[in-house]
Amino acid sequence: MSSPVIVWLRRDLRLSDQPAIAEAARKGPVIPVYILDDETPRHRAMGAASRWWLHHSLDKLGAALNDKGSRLILRRGRADEVLAQLAEETGAQEVHALHHYEPWWRNAEKAVGKTLTLCLHHGNYLAPPGSVTTGSGGLYKIYTPFWRALRERMPPHEPERRPQKIAAPARWPASDTLSEWGLLPKKPDWADGLRDMWEPGEEGARKRLRAFVEEASAYEGQRNLPGVEGTSMLSPHLHFGEVSPAQVWQAVADAGGSVATFLGELGWRDYAQNVILQYPDYAGRYARDPFGDFPWRRSRRDLEAWKQGRTGYPIVDAGMRQLWHTGWMHNRVRMIAASFLIKHLLIDWREGEQWFWDTLVDADYGNNAVNWQWTAGSGVDANMFVRIMAPLTQSEKFDAAAYIREWVPELADLSDADIHDPPPGKRPKGYPEKLIEHRDARERALSAWQQAKAEQ
Ligand code: FAD
Repeated sequence: MSSPVIVWLRRDLRLSDQPAIAEAARKGPVIPVYILDDETPRHRAMGAASRWWLHHSLDKLGAALNDKGSRLILRRGRADEVLAQLAEETGAQEVHALHHYEPWWRNAEKAVGKTLTLCLHHGNYLAPPGSVTTGSGGLYKIYTPFWRALRERMPPHEPERRPQKIAAPARWPASDTLSEWGLLPKKPDWADGLRDMWEPGEEGARKRLRAFVEEASAYEGQRNLPGVEGTSMLSPHLHFGEVSPAQVWQAVADAGGSVATFLGELGWRDYAQNVILQYPDYAGRYARDPFGDFPWRRSRRDLEAWKQGRTGYPIVDAGMRQLWHTGWMHNRVRMIAASFLIKHLLIDWREGEQWFWDTLVDADYGNNAVNWQWTAGSGVDANMFVRIMAPLTQSEKFDAAAYIREWVPELADLSDADIHDPPPGKRPKGYPEKLIEHRDARERALSAWQQAKAEQ
C-alpha cells in the first residue's frame, strides 16, 4: 500500500468541491486531520460562538467521513508540530490543505513547509486572493475596481463532486474526542438560540443554499429589510467552508433573475481577503490618519449597554440582542450598531470588532475587520467618518418595526409610529432612556474629528 497523505483541514470543512481532499484521495490512503491550534504565533483564539459552531461542524464532517469508510483525526497543539508528529507516526510524506490568509495561518503554513511537503490548493474564494491585480500588477485597495476585475474572471471553476472513495490507511493514528475539547458552553449553556436557528455542517449549508436559491431574485429588494428573511444566511457556512463560494455562485447564477447584487456581496468576501493579505494586522491597526490620535471615550458603562442591547435606541438594541441570542445579525443592523458604537458613543471600533469576534457564528478575521474599518472611516476603502448614520431614520426607512418587536419584546405593544423612537411617556418602564440624543452625539463626533485632524 502507498504511504498515506495527510489532509489538514481548517476553515474548509466539507467533502464536495474540496480540492485538498479530492487530490489526496486520488493519491492514496488519506488521513484527514483537524488541529485545534491556539499556539501558532499571532494566533487569534476563536470566539465562543465560533467554538460552538466548530464543535457541530466537526461532528458532522466526522460522520460524513465515516460514511466513506474514513475518519476525522482530532489533535490539539501547534499545527506544524502536530503535523510533523502525525507524519512520523503514520509514514505520511505529504500534507494537502487549502490556502488560508489569516496571518497566523500563513505563519503556520510557512512553518509546516519547513519540515514537510505541503501542497496548498485554492478553493475557498472565487479567485485566489492575490491573483486579481491592477494593470501595473499591484493589489487593489478599493472594492469597486477590485470587483470589476474579479467579475471579468467569473464564473469561478466548475465545482467538483465529493470523492467516490476515500481510502483508509492500514492503521489509524490516535485521535482526541470532540467532547474533551470542551468547545460547547456548559455553565451556563447559552446556546439555545443558536441550536434553534442553525444546522452547522455541509448538509445544513446545502439546505440553506437550496432555500435561498428559490428566493434569490427577491434579494435585491429585500436585503436591507431586517424584518424579512431576505438574505442567504450562508455566512457561517461560508466562513467554515461547509460550502464553497463556487458552489454558491453556480447555484445562484443558474437560478436566473437579478442576482448581480448578491454576487457582488460574495465579491466583498474575496475583497476582504485581498485586504488582509496586504494588511495582516487589519483588525488591530487603523489604515488611515487621523485615527491614531482620535480622542476615543473610554466608557465601560456605555460599552456594556451597547453589548447588552440597552442603549435606548430600539434598532440598535434589537440588533445587539439578535446577535447575543442567535450568533448572527442582519447586515443593515450590523452597520447601524457598529456606527452607533463608533460615532454616537465614540468608542474605539476595535472594542466592537472584538465583541463581534466573540459572539458571531460567522466571525471572520477579514470580513469583520474590513467592515468595522469601513464603518469607522479608518479603512483603506471606507465610508467617511463625517457621514454619521441616523439610527432612528434608518429604522423607519428600512421598516424595522416587526424586527424590533421580535427582539425588544418590552416595546412590542407600541405602534409602528412610536416604536422606532418611543416618545416620553410611552417608553415602557424598564426600557432605558437614550444614552445620548442623536443631535448631541453628532456634534460630539464631529468635534472629536476636528480635534483629531488638528492634532495630526
Ligand atoms: P448575504 O447578504 O446573503 O451575502 C452572501 C455572502 O456574501 C455572505 O454570507 C458573506 O459571506 C458575503 N458578504 C455579504 N456581505 C459582506 C460584507 N459586507 N463583507 C464581506 N462579506 C460579505 N461577515 C462575515 O462573514 N463575518 C464577519 O465577521 C462580519 N462582520 C461584520 C461586521 C460589521 C460591522 C459589518 C457591518 C458587517 C460584517 N459582516 C461580516 C458582513 C455581513 O454583515 C455578513 O456577511 C452578512 O450579514 C451575512 O449574512 P448573509 O449570509 O445572509 O449575507
